[in-house]
Amino acid sequence: MAALKRVVIVGGGISGLSAAFALLEQAGSRDESVQCTVVEGQEYFGGKIVTNRRDGLVTEGGPDSFLTTKPSALALCEKLGLTSQLINTNKEHAQTFTYSKGRLREFPQGLISMVPTKLGPLFHSGVISWAGIVRMGADWIIPARARTNAEETLTEFFSRRLGSEAFDHLIEPLVSGIYAGDANELSVDATFPHLVELERKHGSLIKGALAMQRARSSHRPDATARTLFTTLQGGLGDLITSLTDRLSCAGVSLRRGADVRVVQSSGSHTDPPFRVELEGGERLDAEAVVLATPAYVSAGFLRSFDHEAATALDGIPYASTMTVSMVFPEPEVRSRLRGYGFVVPRVENRSLIAATWSSMKWAGRAPSGQCLIRCYLGGRGREHLLDLEDAELMERACRELESMVGIQPPPLHVEVYRWPRAMPQYTRGHRERVQRIRERVALHPGLYVTGAAYDGIGIPDCIRDAENTSAKLSAYLWE
Ligand SMILES: Cc1cc2nc3c(=O)[nH]c(=O)nc-3n(C[C@H](O)[C@H](O)[C@H](O)COP(=O)(O)OP(=O)(O)OC[C@H]3O[C@@H](n4cnc5c(N)ncnc54)[C@H](O)[C@@H]3O)c2cc1C
Repeated sequence: MAALKRVVIVGGGISGLSAAFALLEQAGSRDESVQCTVVEGQEYFGGKIVTNRRDGLVTEGGPDSFLTTKPSALALCEKLGLTSQLINTNKEHAQTFTYSKGRLREFPQGLISMVPTKLGPLFHSGVISWAGIVRMGADWIIPARARTNAEETLTEFFSRRLGSEAFDHLIEPLVSGIYAGDANELSVDATFPHLVELERKHGSLIKGALAMQRARSSHRPDATARTLFTTLQGGLGDLITSLTDRLSCAGVSLRRGADVRVVQSSGSHTDPPFRVELEGGERLDAEAVVLATPAYVSAGFLRSFDHEAATALDGIPYASTMTVSMVFPEPEVRSRLRGYGFVVPRVENRSLIAATWSSMKWAGRAPSGQCLIRCYLGGRGREHLLDLEDAELMERACRELESMVGIQPPPLHVEVYRWPRAMPQYTRGHRERVQRIRERVALHPGLYVTGAAYDGIGIPDCIRDAENTSAKLSAYLWE
């Protein structure tokens, strides 16, 4: 009987865990077995996904929801039997605000894929001037850019099409909320390729967005449809618990608190091709290794046997962020809170990227009589905030909430999460960099990289990339 194939997955975030889950599915469908180990350096699985539950509060240290327009996360929840636990955003508060010109203003309705399409709401919001609105309208007549031209940053792309005022006040704060990045560095081709395609196909972003809307509205609306974002009733941590339970029942060895120090490639098919060395000296031999770690960690592993791959991986910069969740007495703050919260354009020069009224956006986040608010701070160029003590960070968040929203009372409870080098930045040249990384890694049969650094940073993107990786891995092991 052939010996069981050994696979080591380094990193137990959503990418590593879903890669292990997909590998088991692949093995099952091929009637094969595999000896799989997931090695996680922290004492807990989930990576950026951290849910904390105490005294009726459900707080999220990292992500708080995922997009429903990308199917991978919904499909994984279905496989794990979690579909009935998914909750929609509270429709009664479905409004978002932006802090602009000294006060909160409602984000104009009619944004389709970030592109403004309705004149009335834009005008009433007061977010951009008449001159800015007229400039935006020029998008109808500005010719599309030739495919052969050099890659643009987000600032260049949106300012060229819609004008710099619309970009600074409407689009940049949305982009910052996703990437915590600097739009002067981020590549439009790598972050929003569908918008580049809209321009090419329709000659205008607004025309393209309206065509997208017409195509969508030709489908009959489904009363049970999910909102744009969804989460789990008990928090996203339940996705991780469910995954680890399934993996452990299926015999996957889940090692936590086990920092990987070295990954060695023997470069031969006879020896075990890979050796993974843990802190403390323990060694795991494997026929295949999946690196589901941040790009700069994977670079460290590869440096000893593929310097070029390591250099390309190191070329992916990261931004640091922080979340400060605070609980306030409801009677004292409720009248100040409208919608789901607000975003802050970079031109406003604040520490906050966004604030979410979590207990208004989602049901069951705080006990009655309390409001849970989550502030998102930091991002590219504001990394110095990471050096502040927790109390200083809280104070900074409170000061900004007071000046922007008028919230005054001291919070009843505070949780601070720091995320150093957490958000990969898809800067100009990202797609070529990723192609180079994949080409180099392919020179080492049995070695794979997956995670937020490559083809999308959202949870559904990570799951999709992990599933694709496991499909390639199983073809390597069993074909
Ligand atoms: C504050 C914040 C808010 C976010 N909000 C959202 C959101 O609302 N929706 C959304 O879709 N996405 C959101 N994201 C992005 C999303 O959460 C991440 O991109 C995704 O969770 C990354 O998963 P991953 O498994 O690729 O990486 P990680 O979660 O970083 O997992 C990598 C794992 O590798 C481990 N590791 C590292 N080095 C070693 C080593 N030497 N040995 C062993 N293990 C190691 C780490 O401990 C970690 O557990 C957010 C991210 C942050 C930081």
